Amino acid sequence: MLSNQRIVIIGGGISGKLAARVLSDFFKEVVILERDNESIGPSPRKGARQGEHLHALLHAGQYGLEELFPGITENFYASGAVKINSTKDLAWFHHGVWKLRYDGGYTTTLQTRPHLEWHIEKYINKIPNISVHYNQTVKNLLYDVDENRVFGVGTRF
Ligand SMILES: Cc1cc2nc3c(=O)[nH]c(=O)nc-3n(C[C@H](O)[C@H](O)[C@H](O)COP(=O)(O)OP(=O)(O)OC[C@H]3O[C@@H](n4cnc5c(N)ncnc54)[C@H](O)[C@@H]3O)c2cc1C
Repeated sequence: MLSNQRIVIIGGGISGKLAARVLSDFFKEVVILERDNESIGPSPRKGARQGEHLHALLHAGQYGLEELFPGITENFYASGAVKINSTKDLAWFHHGVWKLRYDGGYTTTLQTRPHLEWHIEKYINKIPNISVHYNQTVKNLLYDVDENRVFGVGTRF
């Protein structure tokens, strides 16, 4: 059942966007407050500094994303992500030894973090009860002592 309440998510990284997608099934309005500017395309941004690194999306994560955003896996590949056999195609040196390479039947998808986030964002932008507000830094939580609950956030533009 859809609650009439508005829910606020602090930070529009991958966790924030995924939380928004899930909560959009339960709340009337989902608001993401993100301190960075809106990205233009799959490019690194200040708030996600590891953006230039290659990101490995493991099988279970990919399965979960596909459940939330049907078709997203094919979209990754269509714009340049690479699929590898997780246990066979990687040369992995760990604790002084090379890991044994074998065909374990699982795939991993390789892409940059901004590329992954950009695809998620395209789905998020199509969900009518989610809005993303950029250049909004959350500075504090507004707390009701009597009710012992957080009822809002304070932001800096
Ligand atoms: C070098 C490196 C390599 C990695 N490789 C992999 C990999 O191969 N595979 C993998 O799955 N993971 C990898 N990770 C981990 C992965 O990048 C992180 O777990 C993931 O990006 C975290 O996402 P997040 O949305 O939780 O947090 P973040 O990406 O940190 O997002 C937080 C968001 O909140 C915003 N924010 C912060 N404070 C505020 C505020 N006060 N008000 C408003 N907005 C705010 C930020 O701008 C940002 O957009 C790697 C990490 C690093 C550092």
